[in-house]
Amino acid sequence: MRVVAAFAVSLSLLGCGGGSPAPQAQAQPAARGATIEHVLLISVDGLRPELLSPPFVGRLPSFSRLMAGPHTLDARPDPDITVTLPNHLSMLTGRPVLGEGGHGWTDNDDPPAAKHGGTIHARKGSYIPSMFDIAHDRGVATGVFATKTKFWLLEQSYSAAAGAVDTVEPDHGKAKIDMFVHARTSLGLAEHVSDHLRRARGATLDFVHFAAPDAAGHADGWTLEAGSRYVCAVEEVDRALGEILSAIDADADLSGRTAIVLTADHGGGAPAKTHTDRSAPINFRIPLLIWSGDRAASDLLAATPSRPRPAADTNPSVAEPAQPIRNGDAANICLSLLGLPPLPAPAYGGVDAVWAAR
Ligand SMILES: [Zn+2]
Repeated sequence: MRVVAAFAVSLSLLGCGGGSPAPQAQAQPAARGATIEHVLLISVDGLRPELLSPPFVGRLPSFSRLMAGPHTLDARPDPDITVTLPNHLSMLTGRPVLGEGGHGWTDNDDPPAAKHGGTIHARKGSYIPSMFDIAHDRGVATGVFATKTKFWLLEQSYSAAAGAVDTVEPDHGKAKIDMFVHARTSLGLAEHVSDHLRRARGATLDFVHFAAPDAAGHADGWTLEAGSRYVCAVEEVDRALGEILSAIDADADLSGRTAIVLTADHGGGAPAKTHTDRSAPINFRIPLLIWSGDRAASDLLAATPSRPRPAADTNPSVAEPAQPIRNGDAANICLSLLGLPPLPAPAYGGVDAVWAAR
């Protein structure tokens, strides 16, 4: 595995819009019938869905573009816990956090060393496959691009030492993640993702994590006011997304063949400057966007009757027969985009209906 520690120079944010904006991507029609070969699962940590509605979305051209496809601003994180690492593990394993079928990881700090139980499997007591397993075993190159060090848990859990034997011929080995990149800034991370995509030779599946909005929220609150530290951080991520979209547009091998699934681990603001109250709607309302080239925007939930829109003030338990679209659906949506089989995990009701909304 290639590990890159990228300590890029911090962006100088002299108020909102400070620094050099990334060139805005030009909208291009998706190639009809093109096969998706590259998928990015992008998590924007602590992203509240209100920012993807007017008036804020007018200042977010990249997020706006990613809404040109099936999307919802009424997705949900795990119902039992609205903190970062457990929800990201749900995104990547397709499982809830708790219960017999859950992945079982509730900590939210840097993990202990692998030899001290710092793998998802050791904590659970059984192997928990991720979307990286399904993809890597079938020859898809995989990567993690993160701005928080706690995601090292992924490398420890899916390493050559801890990963599962590849039983799908040919053998691609036990290490399920080919590349782990840590960067300190949103734009620095986007540059690494863009460079990685340009160099791709064959199918890729990557997880990309932008931490800036969460950091701003913890520092100064999840404040929905123009110029707030939180809104500025989301605008910073928008510029980073613009860098990635520009790289896709500029490369004939990527344009029309690249999909982005964007969601969040939680919202934020309850209690103030945090997001730990799992019963608070401002914590449990999140977006989920499926972009596979520019197309008509559509309501994902209107097209998925088996996954109904939850009431605004509820996040149903995983025992409820009708499950909302959750961030934990992201793994299987990404695998479906690549034409790969779903995870063999108890999901929230399957993503067939979700994907039928393409
Ligand atoms: Zn978070």
